[in-house]
Amino acid sequence: VRTAAQWAQFGRDHVSHGLGRMQDLVVVKGEGLDIYTSDGQKLLDFTAGIGVTNLGHCHPAVTAAVQNQVGSLVHMQCSIMFHAPYLQLIERLLPVMPHPSLDQFFFWNSGSEAIEAALKLARKATGRPNVVVFQGAYHGRTYGSGALTRSKPIYTQSTGPLMPGVYTTAYPYWHSLGVPPSTSEEEIVRLAKHQLDMLFRQQVATKDVAAIFIEPVQGEGGYVPCPAPFMNHLRELCDKHGVLLVIDEVQTGFFRTGSYFSVNHIKGFRPDIMIYAKGIANGFPLSGIVSNKEIMATLDVGSLGGTYAGNAVACAAGVAVQDVFASEDIGGNVNARAEQLYNALYALRDSPKTAPLVAQVRGQGLMAAIEFRMPNDPLTHEGLDKGTHIPSNIGKRVQEFCLSKGLVVLTTSCFDTIRFIPALVVSEEQMDKAMKIFTEAVQNVAN
Ligand code: PMP
Repeated sequence: VRTAAQWAQFGRDHVSHGLGRMQDLVVVKGEGLDIYTSDGQKLLDFTAGIGVTNLGHCHPAVTAAVQNQVGSLVHMQCSIMFHAPYLQLIERLLPVMPHPSLDQFFFWNSGSEAIEAALKLARKATGRPNVVVFQGAYHGRTYGSGALTRSKPIYTQSTGPLMPGVYTTAYPYWHSLGVPPSTSEEEIVRLAKHQLDMLFRQQVATKDVAAIFIEPVQGEGGYVPCPAPFMNHLRELCDKHGVLLVIDEVQTGFFRTGSYFSVNHIKGFRPDIMIYAKGIANGFPLSGIVSNKEIMATLDVGSLGGTYAGNAVACAAGVAVQDVFASEDIGGNVNARAEQLYNALYALRDSPKTAPLVAQVRGQGLMAAIEFRMPNDPLTHEGLDKGTHIPSNIGKRVQEFCLSKGLVVLTTSCFDTIRFIPALVVSEEQMDKAMKIFTEAVQNVAN
C-alpha cells in the first residue's frame, strides 16, 4: 500500500513528462463542487475539469443514466449500426441549436477530434485548402487542431511541420492589437477588422480560404469575449466570399456563458459549422460537430468515423445532461452567480490597495477572468504612478495562496490571468466562500 506522497512520486516517475500538471495531488472523489484528495484534503473546485463537469461532479441524474446504460449496452460501433442514445441525444440537441439550419450531427470523443472533423468538412465542402485562425486561439494539440492553436508555442514546438495553410489574424483583444486595456470596444473591433482586411489583401485570397475558426469567448487565450459586432462582421464577410464560419463552442457551450451556446447572445447568429464537447456529457468523453444539410452532404460516406465515436454510455450521459437543462433553470443560476463573481472582481479592480495589480476584469457568464498587470508591460501600465511596484507572476502566487486555503483556480496560457470556471450549479455560499479566499489572496500579494 502506497501513501499519498508515494503515489505522487509514482506518478512523477511513470506519467509522461509531456503531460503538464498544476499539482501532484491525487483526487479520489468528487461531489458537486467538492473534490477530495488521497491525503485527506477537501477542496472547492473552481475548474470543473476545465469546463467539463458543469453540473458538478457525479451529478445524480447523470450517474443514474450511465449506470442504466452500462447495464444494457456499452458499445455499438456507429459505422455498424445506430444505437438508441446516439439518436436520443440528437433529438435533445435539435431544438436547442442556435440556428435551425444546424440539423446534421456527428459525434466524436474529444474537442480536438471534433476540430479535425470540422477541418475535413470545411475543406471538402468548399474545395479550398486554407483556414484562418486568431491569435490566442486554442483548438487542440493534434496535428490538425494543433496547427490552429495560437495560445502558446509549447503545444507544438519542435514537433512540426504541422498542417499547412493556416493563416493568423488579430483577435479583438487589446494584447493582440497592441493597445491599452482601456481601449473602447468600438476601437478594438475597428482594429481587428483592419487586421483581417490586411490578411486578405496581402497574404491569402478569400477564394482560397475554406473557413474561419473562432471561439466566441476565447478560452486558453485569456477568457476574452469576442464583441458581437466583430462576430457579425465575420458572418457578413464569410457570406460574401463563400468562406465557412466555424464556431468552436467546446468551452463556451452548454450554459457556461448563461445561454445554451455563447452565440445565442447574438440575435439570429448562424454558424456554418459548430463544434461542441466538454460540458455536453458532464465528464464523459463526447464531442461533435453540427452543420446544415447542404454542407454535410458534401462529405463522402465513410469519411467521418472512429471506433468510440459517439459511445453509447457517453451519449446516455449527454441525454441526461440535456434533460437537466430542460428541467432546471441552470442559466438563471449562472447569471446570479456570475453577478456575485464579477462584483468581487470589480471590487479588487477598484479598491486602492489592489487596483494597481489589476489590468482587466472580463468574461461572459461563468467564464470569467481577472488579468493582472505584468512588470515592464507598457500596454497595461497606463494610469499608474511612475515607480509603482508590480510584482511578477501575480496569478501563480494567487493560485498557490488559494490552494493553501482549499480553493482550486486556474491560470490561462497567455499573460498573467486567473480564470474562473466553476460548475454551473455553484451555490451562493460556495461563490461567496471562493471570492473571500480569492480577495484575500490578491490582497496578500499586494501587501
Ligand atoms: N477548443 C476549445 C475552445 C477548447 O477549450 C479545447 C480544450 N481546452 C479544445 C478545443 C480541445 O478539446 P479537447 O481537449 O477535448 O481535445
